[in-house]
Amino acid sequence: VAAGRSPLRIPLPPPTTTKEDSCCSSSSSSSSSSSPTTQTPMVVIVGATGTGKTKLSIDAALALGGEVVNADKIQLYAGLDVTTNKVSLADRRGVPHHLLGAVAPEAGELPPSAFRSLASAAAASIAARRRVPVVAGGSNSLIHALLAPDRRGYRPALRAPCCLLWVDVDDALLAEYLDRRVDDMVAAGMVDELREYFAATTPAQRAAHAGLRKAIGVAELGDHFAGRRTFRAAIDDIKANTRDLAVAQVDKIRRMADAWGWPVRRLDASGAVRARLDGAGAEESACWERDVRGPGIAAIRGFLAD
Ligand code: ATP
Repeated sequence: VAAGRSPLRIPLPPPTTTKEDSCCSSSSSSSSSSSPTTQTPMVVIVGATGTGKTKLSIDAALALGGEVVNADKIQLYAGLDVTTNKVSLADRRGVPHHLLGAVAPEAGELPPSAFRSLASAAAASIAARRRVPVVAGGSNSLIHALLAPDRRGYRPALRAPCCLLWVDVDDALLAEYLDRRVDDMVAAGMVDELREYFAATTPAQRAAHAGLRKAIGVAELGDHFAGRRTFRAAIDDIKANTRDLAVAQVDKIRRMADAWGWPVRRLDASGAVRARLDGAGAEESACWERDVRGPGIAAIRGFLAD
């Protein structure tokens, strides 16, 4: 989203010099003269939190000349980068990212319909520059808003040609990995980040952050800072809520594939996650290439050739 100009008149963060902001500026201006098309062919990568869909989206963008459009409803907002697990600039490997930390928290909660407008405009702009839009999806409500024509439809049809890839990990293994990831996020500064957030904002300001404050960790550690929950209990709740989120996300992806008949191609990242948990870096890379990146990029190439 371009800073300083928005069709939705939402407050946006000031421009920075990062590559993704300049790219997003062009996406917004190029979409201003016509309504955003919803027919732009897109690569859409879905998967539960922690499965590697962010990594695959960047791998795919690098291999195919693409740009990433974020569809995680919490990562839309600026702030709480550790808590919301936003991909770092280094890990983006130069790939422009749209709608990542692009909405000011004071804007409240971005409705899915507004996301659809912004993401469609970004995708159309990327395609107009002859690059491939790669939507990295975490939130079913946003993927649905972007790809389904009618929210109430029992079996919504896809309204744009899509290569839909699902990065999946065995349930028990993912639960183990997510617990470890919460510990890693704590080590990376999640608690300090949230302590500063609570110190720097009033309850009224936080109430106005209707989207961002739903991030897992805000309520749990907020209770701890207020003396209502022990630190241990807060971290345990963050782990449990993260595991529950992953289960709910997988249920929704299964519904897309099974009930709606959307052509979702499943990629099994279990081997890579197992190797990562074991600290086996070479094995992790080999599994990722064999099971996820290789077949994922082959599927996208087939889609783009059609
Ligand atoms: P629902 O409509 O049930 O909210 P959804 O598909 O729109 O589902 P999800 O992505 O499944 O949205 O997120 C559900 C909840 O999980 C969020 O409201 C938030 O509490 C938490 N959550 C999701 N993504 C993140 C994230 N990146 N960081 C922290 N918490 C998150």
